[in-house]
Amino acid sequence: ENPLGVHLRAMAIGGGHVAVEAVDVTESHRLARVRRDFVANVSHELKTPIGALQLLAEALLDATEPAGAAAPDLSEDLVAARRFAERIQHESTRLGRLVQELLELTRLQGAEPQPPPEPVAVDWVVAEVVDRTRTSAAARRIEVEVTGERGLTVYGSDTQLATAVSNLVENAINYSGEDTTVRIATRADDEHVEIAVTDQGIGIAPTDVDRIFERFYRADQARSRDTGGTGLGLAIVKHIASNHGGRVEVASTLGGGSTFTLRLPARPPDDLLATLPPAGI
Ligand code: ADP
Repeated sequence: ENPLGVHLRAMAIGGGHVAVEAVDVTESHRLARVRRDFVANVSHELKTPIGALQLLAEALLDATEPAGAAAPDLSEDLVAARRFAERIQHESTRLGRLVQELLELTRLQGAEPQPPPEPVAVDWVVAEVVDRTRTSAAARRIEVEVTGERGLTVYGSDTQLATAVSNLVENAINYSGEDTTVRIATRADDEHVEIAVTDQGIGIAPTDVDRIFERFYRADQARSRDTGGTGLGLAIVKHIASNHGGRVEVASTLGGGSTFTLRLPARPPDDLLATLPPAGI
């Protein structure tokens, strides 16, 4: 944020004179904050009714469950009702995830104060991510392999970094075929620590590759929808990377798999998380 609330611009106007223009940016910052707060509040308010929908759908499924093998066949109406209840459950789960990720994104954009940076063991982040993604990897018979340097340290928030890497690994799993391998590789030089996630999946077309970090952008609508994705995962990764003074890069060929690399500073920041970019939603 600009503490003065003004941007100064100097220009030579000839005759040895200089004009200085002062632009009030307080208002645009205020508007950005109002927008973020609004999204955060709406998302928060949506959580309760979505939770209720999920519970109601579950209750409906329980109530119409066939009572074992001896029970008479379900009527056609009841079968249809169960199908609708399943659909409601599926969609409300998806909506719940969308709201949770929107909240996460507004939080990262500075709607809430950021935690002060702390040393984070990369080994911990990787172990945490492997643990979190175990079920979805197993469901698709995908092996998550860990290679590279151990004992590395980065600086920032352990929970944010685990969220970023697990978003990358979840994507790697979602956009890969069964019986493939996802690799998490760590390395470092004097300047940077890198955590790279490589998959043998569907890859990304050159026309999409520049846009996938935008909110709600999805390369292949049909396939993406099948994964239950929200289109916010990579926007979150990008924000976490920049909050940590780093960046996320992608190398991919359509049909040939992808590598997403999170590159973070190897040195402790002065006060990294206090210098958040003022971003609107
Ligand atoms: P989503 O919830 O749709 O996965 P993301 O923001 O995480 O949203 O990703 C945006 C889009 O980028 C996805 O919809 C998909 O088209 C593409 N994508 C992301 N990760 C991969 C990957 N590992 N392989 C192929 N495509 C990917």
